[in-house]
Amino acid sequence: MKAIPYGRQHISEEDIQAVIETLQSDYLTQGPKIAQFEEAFANYIGSKYAVALSNGTAALHLCTLALGVETGDKVITTPITFAASANCIRYCGGEVVFSDIDPETYLLDINKVRTLLESAPKGTYKGIIPVDFAGRANNLEAFRELADEYDLWIIEDSCHSPGGSFKDSHGNTQNCGNGNFADLAIFSFHPVKHIASGEGGMISTNDKNLYEKLLQLRTHGIVKNNDLYTNTVELAGGDEQYPGWYMEMQNLGFNYRLTDFQAALGLSQLSRANKGISRRREIAAKYFDALKDKAYIKGQSSVVEGHAYHLYVIEVEDRLGLYNYLRNKNIYAQIHYIPCHLMPYYKQFGWKEGDFPYAENYYKHCISLPMYPTLTDDEQAYVINEINTFYSEKY
Ligand SMILES: *Cc1c(COP(=O)(O)O)cnc(C)c1O
Repeated sequence: MKAIPYGRQHISEEDIQAVIETLQSDYLTQGPKIAQFEEAFANYIGSKYAVALSNGTAALHLCTLALGVETGDKVITTPITFAASANCIRYCGGEVVFSDIDPETYLLDINKVRTLLESAPKGTYKGIIPVDFAGRANNLEAFRELADEYDLWIIEDSCHSPGGSFKDSHGNTQNCGNGNFADLAIFSFHPVKHIASGEGGMISTNDKNLYEKLLQLRTHGIVKNNDLYTNTVELAGGDEQYPGWYMEMQNLGFNYRLTDFQAALGLSQLSRANKGISRRREIAAKYFDALKDKAYIKGQSSVVEGHAYHLYVIEVEDRLGLYNYLRNKNIYAQIHYIPCHLMPYYKQFGWKEGDFPYAENYYKHCISLPMYPTLTDDEQAYVINEINTFYSEKY
């Protein structure tokens, strides 16, 4: 049996052709593929606007910049996420306030967030970053209601959930990142994620002002629009009007652009995204049925409508033993995540073991099983069989 990772990309012949065509075109970057990818992606998730970026972390950074996070601003997020969800607050000098997860969903527990907000004067907190962990959608309608009460913004970290959704209180399907509830949502196109472009990211929003800010910040804070210039025509070097070459750097931005050949790859992958999600759901249903009655299972991702299954997580006894056993069998299950508040970088701010019992207990037992559309039935059966063998030998 060849090595089975926890996640991996799938590159088709069409993907390769799309990249080659772009490499042979006039534009390697800042060309037409970017807007095409943005439009198709916005269409896929149902948002008004999308901005393609060099990676998901850059996307998070531009979100906190565009929302005006400043030194000392308190922002709430979950400890069970990739560090970047929290780090983006620090990039702007803000203060990360972690809050515990719901042990059933593994998502930020909205009731604990409410308690946190109630226990401080209004205005103490500036925003919330819920993460659609493993591909399970947060109920953003509920988060929006709470955020409005306290005048907070929301960044939805949807890196795990393109194509995922939840049902709102009217029974309508709300796609992750569709901009109906969160101010901004972010995605990553790293190869382990649903849509791969090598490196890549996207911000989606329905807010035109934020959209325009993001476009500017993506390219050094430069504006190229006669109507927006603040210097005079004369200072710009023109006579009647601004000269053709003129542009203005109005804010301190970055170069966080995606290249056109990456966008071409992303665009080609996007056309298979729905198929990929369907296959992920099949795999999840199979894991759930095979494992649900096992005594060694303490919890698992389970079958949930709208789940995008970036990961399939189980919670088990002797997680270390299982992890090492599976590696010996060429199965590279992985752990998501070491709680952020226990990272040495965050411990310096006073976070410590014992702060978040549910997150810490989850971390003691969690392991992510192989989950990607090209995992074959035989490979999945092999994984399930090896898990059973490990526990039948041990218990
Ligand atoms: C992958 C990921 C990111 C960062 O994306 P990159 O493209 O790797 O920078 C942020 N948040 C979560 C939850 C992720 O899984």
